Parts: sequence; C-alpha cells; structure tokens
Amino acid sequence: MTATATRVLVLNSGSSSLKYQLLDMHDASRLAVGLVERIGEETSRLVHTPLATGGAKRETEGAMADHDAALKAVAAELAADGLGLDSPQLAAIGHRVVHGGLKFTAPTVIDDAVLTEIERLVPVAPLHNPANITGIRTARALRPDLPQVAVFDTAFHTTMPEYAARYAIDVATADAHRIRRYGFHGTSHAYVSRKTAALLGKGPSEVNVIVLHLGNGASASAVAGGRCVDTSMGLTPLEGLVMGTRSGDIDPAVTFHLKRVAGMSEDEVDELLNKKSGLIGLCGDNDMREIRRRIDEGDAQAKLAFDIYIHRLKKYLGAYTAVLGRVDAVAFTAGVGENAAPVREAAIAGLADMGMAVDADRNAVRSDEPRLISPEGSRVAVAVVPTDEELEIAQQTYALVSA
Ligand code: AMP
Repeated sequence: MTATATRVLVLNSGSSSLKYQLLDMHDASRLAVGLVERIGEETSRLVHTPLATGGAKRETEGAMADHDAALKAVAAELAADGLGLDSPQLAAIGHRVVHGGLKFTAPTVIDDAVLTEIERLVPVAPLHNPANITGIRTARALRPDLPQVAVFDTAFHTTMPEYAARYAIDVATADAHRIRRYGFHGTSHAYVSRKTAALLGKGPSEVNVIVLHLGNGASASAVAGGRCVDTSMGLTPLEGLVMGTRSGDIDPAVTFHLKRVAGMSEDEVDELLNKKSGLIGLCGDNDMREIRRRIDEGDAQAKLAFDIYIHRLKKYLGAYTAVLGRVDAVAFTAGVGENAAPVREAAIAGLADMGMAVDADRNAVRSDEPRLISPEGSRVAVAVVPTDEELEIAQQTYALVSA
C-alpha cells in the first residue's frame, strides 16, 4: 500500500447481485456507489452513480453471466470516472461476509487458508456464504496483489456469553453440527451502538444500549459497554423479531406439524418461514409504508400484522432490559427503524415504568443524522441512529490494512 492509498472498495455479493461502494477513508467520503442485479440472467442491470464527479446515474442492461463479468463491468464504470481498480490510490477491498462462525471474531485479511475456513462455514450459512465466496474469488482474480479483507456479520456477536449463545439442546449434537446462536447484522449493531454512545457524549464502554435494526430483515441486540451480550437472530437469520418475510421466533414443533400434518416438504417449510411469513405472510405486504397506508384506511389485517410486529418488539425490549440490568439508550435503525415514526411510537408506548418514552414532535422529525426522540430528561435515551454498514466495513478494512 502506498502512502496515498486511502480508497477502499466495499463489495457485498449476493447470489445474483453485487452491491458496491468506493470510499475515500481520508475523509470517509463516497466516490461511487452502485449495484448489479440479476447476475446470470439475460437482463442483468448495472446502476452506477459517480458521486465524486457529480455525474448522473448510469444504467447498463445486458447479460452478465457471472460475478466475474459483473465485477469487470463495475471496474469499467469506475475506470470511466478515473476511479479504476488499478489505481495506486486503492488501498484494499472490503468484503461483507455473512457467516464467520466462532473462528472469525474480527475483520480478517483474506488468504487461501481464510477462504478455506469461510468455505467450511457453508453448511451453517448455505444461502449467504457461497455468494460472498464468489465475490471474494472474483475480486482476488482481478487484483491478486491487493489486500482483501473479510468483515463478518457475526463477528460483533462473538462476545455473547455461552449461556446466551447456546440452545438448550443435547450438547454433543449441537457441537457436532456447530448449532448455536451466532447472530447477524453485527456490522450494523456495532456501528449503531458506537454512534449511540457518541450521541450521548460518552464512550462505548460507558453505556448499555439496546439496538433495534428494523429493515426487511430485523434483529435486536443488547450491548453492554460496547460488547454484545445477546442478540435475537440465531443459527440463521430466521430467529427473533417479526420481519418483512421471516416469521422470527416460532415453536419449532410448527415445522414438524407442517411436515407431518400439512404434508409440506423440507424446502417448502423453509420457504414458508423465510419468504412467506412475517409481515408479508400476515397481511400480504412487507413494506411498512404500505402497511401504514392500509391501516389508515381501516384495514384490519394490516393492523393485526402491525400489532404482532410491535408486540414482538416490546417483548425483546423487556427481555434485553432484564439482561442488561441498566439501559442507557434504545436505538432504532435501518429502513423501518429510521423512517417509520409510528413503529417507534408504538414500540415504546406503555414503557414509562422502564424509563422509556417518545416525544411526538421529536419523533416526527425526518433527518439523516443521529437524533434523540425521547423527552428531555428521560431516564433512557430513545434515539434514531441511521446505520451505515458500508462505512463500517470500509473503516474496519482500512484500519486493518493501514495498521
Ligand atoms: P432495509 O432492509 O433496511 O433497506 O429496510 C427496508 C424496509 O424499510 C422496507 O421494506 C420498508 O418496510 C421500510 N421503509 C423504508 N422506507 C420507509 C418509510 N419512509 N417509511 C416506513 N418504512 C420504510
């Protein structure tokens, strides 16, 4: 890495998508952002926004057979803006990797051995790690000389005590198959808990925070003095809160029932719980804006879906208050948490005895900045703290390669 190398390319590879951001860590600015969708289809689409040049968004359609083709197309777009991947200013590529198991507790420079370890985790993350691995292989082939760093969604949660991470099942079976609670969205929980401490004018070690990451996927975490002590997702991202399309917590016997009585296959049950449950299963919509619109029109099904969503949130707020003992702040983040004032209001309503309240005027403010929505002098600060997983990945990557 040269002294002037301050740029980091962040890659988030999905099974048929590739999201990217190029950041300059000199001032944490974004130089370019974009997304390739429908990789492997005839109608792949690349949307590229060159923020550094202030140029207009560019869209390219056409078959991109695989991630290699997609990344080469991205590299060409960046090169057209003078931001090519061969630039000496590029310090590293940071990859989002969903599952790091117990082994990866921190961002890690990728070599062959690390890649083999990430591959060994495919059985516990069959939906996510294969795509992340493809992204890593592709980027390494394009710039074999450049440091590439894996930043794991699970890493922040590896501080959970054993009694929070273990399921109460036969230990030998659990250990043989690496069955335990890993948690996800860790990059967001880490970023938001730290930002929340800063909003209170404190260091992360001085505060206990409950983070509610409410996007299409949703998870809660209890963070004590900067360390995660519990989180709502488990072996997979299915456990915990009601989500856009996932059920969250459910009696596992429901799955036996669906197979034995309803005659569903393993794959059908998997799809039902991951793709056809949560808000979409309850009312047919998973977008909170649409659900609120329907509620305003008197739609009882949308109202019930909303109430179930809120009830689960309250249960986790109560549980994590007990786990933490003392709560200094509750932070709402991600698409729903940052934008849906009615969700924040309803989740906190009735919790005054727990020191939690929301001020209606503050809650109505729309802003991209972290902000308090609790009344002046509240025992627990309730906050909206926009998440920024790409910035966190870039920061962790840059810290590692510039150390
Ligand atoms: P994310 O996964 O963090 O991108 O969040 C996506 C979800 O955020 C969407 O499915 C919506 O439910 C929700 N969302 C986004 N914008 C708004 C908004 N203005 N009001 C309410 N919900 C929103």
